[in-house]
Amino acid sequence: MVSRIVYGRGSFGQLNEILAPERKNERAPFIYLIDSIFKTNDNIISKISLSYDDYLIFISSEEEPKVSQVDLLVEDIILNTKAIPSGIIGIGGGTLMDLAKAVALMLTNNGSSEEYQGWDLVKNPAVYHLGVPTISGTGAEVSRTTVLNGAKMKLGINSDFTPFDQVILDPDLTEGVPNEQWFYTGMDCFIHCVEALNGHFINTFSQSYGEMAYALCKEVFLSDLKHQEKQNKLMMASWHGGMSIAYSQVGVAHALSYGLSFVLGIKHGIGNCIVFNQLQSFYPKDVLLFRQMMGRHNIQLPRGVCENLSDAQFDDMIDIALRLEPLWENAVGKDWKQTISRELIKELYRKM
Ligand code: NAD
Ligand code: ZN
Repeated sequence: MVSRIVYGRGSFGQLNEILAPERKNERAPFIYLIDSIFKTNDNIISKISLSYDDYLIFISSEEEPKVSQVDLLVEDIILNTKAIPSGIIGIGGGTLMDLAKAVALMLTNNGSSEEYQGWDLVKNPAVYHLGVPTISGTGAEVSRTTVLNGAKMKLGINSDFTPFDQVILDPDLTEGVPNEQWFYTGMDCFIHCVEALNGHFINTFSQSYGEMAYALCKEVFLSDLKHQEKQNKLMMASWHGGMSIAYSQVGVAHALSYGLSFVLGIKHGIGNCIVFNQLQSFYPKDVLLFRQMMGRHNIQLPRGVCENLSDAQFDDMIDIALRLEPLWENAVGKDWKQTISRELIKELYRKM
């Protein structure tokens, strides 16, 4: 679990006092990984006070995090610093949350981040890492994974050392997220809840978080709340949804959207929506609810995304989806291989 949390509008202002006691010495800097969209955002940048060798790295979230990107960042940091950093601070959406977690892990673990994709392969604790989400939905701020695209697959580094040591939840920072992006990333949370709550791995611990997040999502996306109230509630929904899947598992939407992401570069939030819209046979009641939410917020999903794919590309997507065995087992049950065929998956992809 995340060890420490502060929540509140304006709480980002406490960043410097939260970090101060974590500084190891003058040679060990804090390094900030920040979504480049905030380069000229004074509201965020002016609140960061740099001392000694601290520095900022602006990173585009145009593409989802890659193993090679993490390895390069770590190499760069090692070359540029006199000592192992005091901490890594990630500021942004799921992309930046995952990069910060992965870089913090790889500063204390040898080799390439690719070697640690999977479950519980990390050997050493990460350097101190602090997360500041600026868009709500992925739950990456609370989860015990960091999802990376590698040469062969998209897979998380799942470990007890992955979660942040500290998170600052400040709903003010989500001001300015464009409507479509707000919807797609928010739906990631809704889909986490649906997949966790309807999965075979569900347990009371996970269910209680999932139900809370599911109810908050319904409020945010289907009722008339004030703008700030929506920001507050979606941030907490993201947190609870993340907690729910951390102790259960996601399902069919995530399995298929990992394929879309790997082969077509379609990002997680929108990819999940494109997939989920075709999953009536798995999640009938919630797909209807999802379409109601889309209508209410004037969302038009792209269509025909798999139209021009070659057989080889379909095969790649299907391979990626099927390799995520725990997701299928959660969604369908132990005997999932009896009902989930390559043909069925291809048919679903074709409909998207
Ligand atoms: P993102 O981080 O890519 O951000 C989406 C867009 O919103 C970007 O263009 C970004 O610049 C913009 N943005 C963010 N905050 C903003 C703000 N306050 N104002 C204006 N624009 C803002 O997207 P995401 O949906 O948050 O994250 C997706 C990533 O999260 C994927 O890489 C996915 O694999 C990962 N993910 C991780 C976990 C996990 O548990 N580790 C879970 C789900 C998803
Ligand atoms: Zn997700």
